[in-house]
Amino acid sequence: MHAERSRRNPHSARVAARRQDAWAGSSTRAIRSAAVHGKVGRGARAESGLAIGIDIGGTKVAAGVVDRSGAVIREARRLTPGTDPRAVEQVIVELVDELSSDHAIGSVGIGAAGWMDLDGGTVLFSPHLAWRNEPLRENLERLLRRPVLLANDADAAAWAEWRFGAGQGEDRLVCITLGTGIGGAMVIDGRVERGRWGVAGEFGHQIIVPGGHRCECGNRGCWEQYASGNALGREARELARANSPVAQELLRAANGNPDTISGITVTELARAGDAASRELLEDVGEWLGLGLANLAAALDPGKFVIGGGLCDAGELLVAPARRAFARNLTGRGFRPPATIALAALGPRAGLIGAADLSRVAASR
Ligand SMILES: [Zn+2]
Repeated sequence: MHAERSRRNPHSARVAARRQDAWAGSSTRAIRSAAVHGKVGRGARAESGLAIGIDIGGTKVAAGVVDRSGAVIREARRLTPGTDPRAVEQVIVELVDELSSDHAIGSVGIGAAGWMDLDGGTVLFSPHLAWRNEPLRENLERLLRRPVLLANDADAAAWAEWRFGAGQGEDRLVCITLGTGIGGAMVIDGRVERGRWGVAGEFGHQIIVPGGHRCECGNRGCWEQYASGNALGREARELARANSPVAQELLRAANGNPDTISGITVTELARAGDAASRELLEDVGEWLGLGLANLAAALDPGKFVIGGGLCDAGELLVAPARRAFARNLTGRGFRPPATIALAALGPRAGLIGAADLSRVAASR
């Protein structure tokens, strides 16, 4: 495959070996050294240390110019243009053109939900987009004339938290992103651990209640059916439909229509002090802690960093998660427990991580 690529695009083949090494196996020391000493060394654009990160979501595409310290110095965004791969590529090209008009950009990192191959070149599957075995990097490097790296969005966010956020200094870090579902990723000894085929980290689909709620993956009882923003919304709608007096504030916020209640509604009401919404968040937090205890049994991390939209609930979510984690941890009392911290970088973590991964890969 590389030989064929080199005939079509010598530039791609040249950077591929360097990139594969960095993406799949950089050491902490090497990355820190590259970051601190600026050993990028591939022309003026790379010397600038600036990279573009692009986070492709189901509804919007967010992009930013990211410097060596993880700061986003310029941003742009577009609506996700349906699922047509060519239309998505076109939006990426537009964003890179716009953001590189007055910055020297060395590389581009793309983060998206889905599975990327280990080389960071092909999208094997993306749930929200029509990419199936799509050689996205080759197409984009031809269009953008820069090194491109593809990353799973949860991997990119975890990398950003390890480099610049709440996971700094932790050699065995597990990151959980709580949104509509649950994203998972690991940064172990300074590299993103992606498993044998590049599809590790699907913690949201550990079956936690056999025969439980149906999941879009096809199974029943997955963790993300109990500990995600969608789960919080579903439980709140059920409570409101039961016409319980405790759901009075939820119904008022939804103008009397339970169908419009979402996880965001619950989080906002809980922060304003609504008791029922706080109970709902506590339930989700307990499921979160139980799943984290399962992960600790398997992975023994030093720290969990919890990010994603549901984290707007802060300690209302994480305090019950810590209690359930402590209560269910295998060998509790006889082992140091992992710490559980909220993510530090917010919704930009994905684009910051994608940009930084591309810069590190292109610099080796
Ligand atoms: Zn599932």
